[in-house]
Amino acid sequence: TQDALLANEKLAVAGRLAATIAHEIHNPLDSVSNLLYLMRNGVTEEESVQFMDMAEQELARVTQISRAMLGLYRESKAPVLVDLKDMLQEILLLMERRLTDERVNIHADLPSGIAVDAFPAELRQVFTNLIANAAEAAGPGGNVRVNLRPQPALSIDGHKQEAGATVMITDNGMGIPDEVRPHLFQPFFTTKGERGTGLGLWVSRGIVTKHGGTIELASNTDEATHGTSVSVFLATKPTINAGGD
Ligand code: ADP
Ligand code: MG
Repeated sequence: TQDALLANEKLAVAGRLAATIAHEIHNPLDSVSNLLYLMRNGVTEEESVQFMDMAEQELARVTQISRAMLGLYRESKAPVLVDLKDMLQEILLLMERRLTDERVNIHADLPSGIAVDAFPAELRQVFTNLIANAAEAAGPGGNVRVNLRPQPALSIDGHKQEAGATVMITDNGMGIPDEVRPHLFQPFFTTKGERGTGLGLWVSRGIVTKHGGTIELASNTDEATHGTSVSVFLATKPTINAGGD
């Protein structure tokens, strides 16, 4: 039947995904065991520092991948009221070290008193991913803006827009070329080589969709006005679909 076919298709996708993830995690773990092997066999002080740094970086990659996955597969509890200003400020504080190292200028415009029902750990993951992408795109000396806006309930021509909030993250990076756009939300699609996981946008969209929200991306590569803007709309009282598929 149609349903059975669909279920099969879903299983096939899940299987492929699991295989890809296993592969992505296998490589850094392999590097770590090689590095440990080398260290066991007598190395200079200098080498041992260097190898430990390398092992740490490889493990950080595994952590990065598993964190990204957790956002989607965590057991769902009930959503709680999340103050978006508090959450975004906390995220920016946690990212400060890294943003300062990368010499990215952050401008945050975060009015108080805007809250939505959500799974906080998951939402934090979304904003962290999007701000990280914006910072990576902006690069040294670049600008990233984080804006929070209330979204009043609207009813225009019988079309209803629920009350909620929009978080908009804008950067003045190089923008996204047309040929890249169709792939943005595919798992493991990255233009950053070894430095990227290609999971950020895919996981973020999964989380936002689960929250009944929307994520929209506008970008241009124009020489004078290049940059990217990602908007996340979240309803104050969302219909959360916890069916994790
Ligand atoms: P990763 O950041 O690990 O590459 P993501 O899923 O977060 O994976 O992003 C996928 C790709 O989308 C990036 O490699 C990059 O090419 C593109 N991208 C995402 N955000 C931006 C942005 N703000 N500006 C330019 N390109 C972006
Ligand atoms: Mg990313």
